[in-house]
Amino acid sequence: MPGNSTITVHADREVHPSRAVAPPIYQTATFWAEDGETFAQVAVDPRGKDFYTRFGNPNHAQVAAVVAELEGTEAAMVTASGMAALTTAVLALVSAGDHVIGQKSTYGGTGSLLLNLLPRLGVSTTLVDQTDPEAFAQALTPQTRLILVESPSNPLLQITDLRAVAELARAHDVLTMADNTFATPLNQRPADLGIDLVWHSATKYLNGHSDVSAGVLAGPAELLNRIWDVGLLTGATLGPIDAWLLLRGMRTLPLRVARHNANGQALAEALNEHPAVAKVHYPGLATHPQHKLASRQMSGFGGVLGIEFTGGFEMADAFLGRLRYPRRAASLGGVESLAVHPASMWRGMLNEEQIAESVPLGLVRLAAGTEDTADLVADALAAADAVHATAASA
Ligand SMILES: *Cc1c(COP(=O)(O)O)cnc(C)c1O
Repeated sequence: MPGNSTITVHADREVHPSRAVAPPIYQTATFWAEDGETFAQVAVDPRGKDFYTRFGNPNHAQVAAVVAELEGTEAAMVTASGMAALTTAVLALVSAGDHVIGQKSTYGGTGSLLLNLLPRLGVSTTLVDQTDPEAFAQALTPQTRLILVESPSNPLLQITDLRAVAELARAHDVLTMADNTFATPLNQRPADLGIDLVWHSATKYLNGHSDVSAGVLAGPAELLNRIWDVGLLTGATLGPIDAWLLLRGMRTLPLRVARHNANGQALAEALNEHPAVAKVHYPGLATHPQHKLASRQMSGFGGVLGIEFTGGFEMADAFLGRLRYPRRAASLGGVESLAVHPASMWRGMLNEEQIAESVPLGLVRLAAGTEDTADLVADALAAADAVHATAASA
């Protein structure tokens, strides 16, 4: 098998209809056929690429080829956003009367799907403490069809024992689906640990430049074909230009992730000892309660850290205001550092009570970009010093 940096540059070669070295953008809504037989065939080809762009497009197929090889899965497909990937997959895999298990610490949109949308459709859900593999076993019912995991989780960086959950699910004929957005396939390959389906907000690290919304799903072709069938109905189609940008972004994914990992680790270590900081949540720290598990299932720890301040919301907010390089913006995984207060950000998806249960008020989520490590560390320490000095003089 070639290495990851070779895969991201070459894995799409077989799905190029042209001889252009840089793939053309297939900015077309539809494709013509030579004859009736061909037309009838392409209309039913699962995840095909030359019938109608809602069904598939060469730019989609190129992204999918790279993602499948990086994740080590049989196939992959692309969607218009990470949430489109999740919702389309879940709607394809469960029906009224079924039960789904998710995590308490999870991306706000995933939490809202579990707490708000699925129950409305007659699908019951249970959210468990992901740090306890036993909790997944206890939540299983005869109606459980699907377990949604996310590791590391957004924004608390909690780790799920992916192999343990996958084994439990297999034994009960339950499907597993892992959000691999934070780790990327460079740091973690959930399918190698037995997870059935892997999904990403490709808006984040896979694209890496904060200029595209996109999602991907990776797994066995048979499962993806079922999800693709529902995707035709949800219409969660990625535009060809966005797919092209995503492919271009992925070319440098291994280079970028190496720097994100280094910056995340350096920031976590620098802030962990700071007197204004109650706790840094980062799986690469030896003090992270699940550091051993993280080291077993990950080869790098990513660029996102959760920083819990001693002075609650006010100190967290003041810290954000003092940062020079990380700007206050939703999202992560781009070359530029971004930082947010998750409890303020997720109010569009979760109610106050749901937020209070999943995110501490004094938490800042800092997503390190690919800037120079020394600059980011000096900037974060200066901001932490300033908020500490203000608190001490008050
Ligand atoms: C951003 C994010 C999502 C949602 O993806 P979109 O592309 O914004 O729809 C899902 N999971 C995680 C972990 C995320 O960070």
